[in-house]
Amino acid sequence: MILKVLMAQLFSRPVTNRFPAKYMPRSVTGFLAKVGQGKAKLVPPVPVPKGFRGKLAYDRETCIGCQLCIRVCPASVIMFKPETKKIRIHVARCTFCGQCVDVCPVDALAMTEEFLLAAYDRFDPSLIVE
Ligand code: SF4
Ligand code: SF4
Repeated sequence: MILKVLMAQLFSRPVTNRFPAKYMPRSVTGFLAKVGQGKAKLVPPVPVPKGFRGKLAYDRETCIGCQLCIRVCPASVIMFKPETKKIRIHVARCTFCGQCVDVCPVDALAMTEEFLLAAYDRFDPSLIVE
């Protein structure tokens, strides 16, 4: 039985892929810079499964400022901005639990398929949603 499983795994395709490049570049940051300049192409990551919980998307026009999302967030990721009655989400601390999405009465929050969220600074603009 174990031998059968082993053999099946030996000849099955891996569920992961070589990301971001087929062969490890000498410098990953150099490679990514080249991608930014259009001189190299990323090997795309594997598709995410249905229902994947990635970076939050926020529709600030729809938001009514009820703050329910702030109350349910277990990681204290969401801040209220009293001057505009809107919210700011610090994605670097998000645990992607989805509770804020579930509780929002006007569907102003959604989880996207975006998961490439690495940054040197947790306050990087790419990690702030508002
Ligand atoms: S997904 Fe969870 S951790 Fe992230 S902001 Fe929403 S409630 Fe907070
Ligand atoms: S729960 Fe929805 S409507 Fe209420 S503050 Fe959060 S995003 Fe805005």
